[in-house]
Amino acid sequence: QLHNTILTLKGNIRVFCRVRPVGPADKASADRLESGGPVMVFPQPGETSDGCLELTTPNGNKSSFTFDKVFGPTASQAEVFEEVSQLVQSALDGYKVCIFAYGQTGSGKTFTTLGTPENMGLIPRAVEQLFTSATQLEASQGWSFQMKASMLEVYNEEIKDLLGKGPPAGKKHTVSHSDKTGCTTVSYLEAVDCREPACVAALLQQAARQRAVGATAANERSSRSHMVFTLSVCGLRSADGQQLNGVLNLIDLAGSERLKASGASGERLRETQAINKSLSALGDVITALGNKDASHIPYRNSKLTWLLQPCLGGDAKMLMVANVAPTAAAAAESLCSLRFAAKVN
Ligand code: ADP
Ligand code: MG
Repeated sequence: QLHNTILTLKGNIRVFCRVRPVGPADKASADRLESGGPVMVFPQPGETSDGCLELTTPNGNKSSFTFDKVFGPTASQAEVFEEVSQLVQSALDGYKVCIFAYGQTGSGKTFTTLGTPENMGLIPRAVEQLFTSATQLEASQGWSFQMKASMLEVYNEEIKDLLGKGPPAGKKHTVSHSDKTGCTTVSYLEAVDCREPACVAALLQQAARQRAVGATAANERSSRSHMVFTLSVCGLRSADGQQLNGVLNLIDLAGSERLKASGASGERLRETQAINKSLSALGDVITALGNKDASHIPYRNSKLTWLLQPCLGGDAKMLMVANVAPTAAAAAESLCSLRFAAKVN
């Protein structure tokens, strides 16, 4: 039996795993493999655990993993948020925070980050909490906070604004970082001032619409691009002029399924190469950050890591949520996702 142990919270990187429930779309493929049942085994079936997970592939091989936290198929959105709320809160203390959802298409990344109107995910919950806390801090400690939200897509190593109109003809979005504040500026990117949770809900809707309009098959495209939601927090305390610049990034990564370049050509080949490159670049950056001897962090190897650079490393806080589907049909990809998550810790 293979045993992969993932050490708990080394430095500022934590790794959670979330196993989604079996859904209606799973039935057909699971039956064909003559293995209808879930293949994930928990110490306490279906419950959140601290955090062992055993995966059995259809050929009977078992692999066990340990994460900072494992959420089983019955874990609610509220339970998942509960475990990240402190991390989210630290953006109001001036920290840079990145929360990634990693996994194959259909594993629950978008459900975890965005959620559904009935079952809100991390983004709307995080925003709601930050607004409430900011309002309290303004009343009790004399801070004033400005909060701006933006949302973009990284597709084929190019940035696309999901809220605004994008750059004028002939121009591109460019990324620059300020050493002083650690803030990132993306040229021509719409950043919306919003102090009402309802405002952000509207932003999310607008983004979803834009995404759908831009592609004939929105799902197809969303599985091939990274979605980055950023909430920047600028705080000023008038009594002593103290300032802080916190950032919360929530990233719905492109599907991690292994894509074969063979047979693909043109646009599809470029897409495939871009996804493989950016996901491995992200893994490389996180691995280098965890290696005390690493002298060089390869941020420039992909658009995503370059964009997020100030929020990866230093005293930035990172969380990777490895999303996996519970079915036999997905087992091989699930194993890859769990191994990737093991590598980043
Ligand atoms: P991904 O973004 O990784 O491609 P989705 O988030 O779209 O995957 O999830 C695939 C399907 O499974 C969707 O219909 C989604 O609503 C559902 N789903 C995912 N995770 C859960 C969960 N924890 N509970 C209930 N349904 C879920
Ligand atoms: Mg998705």
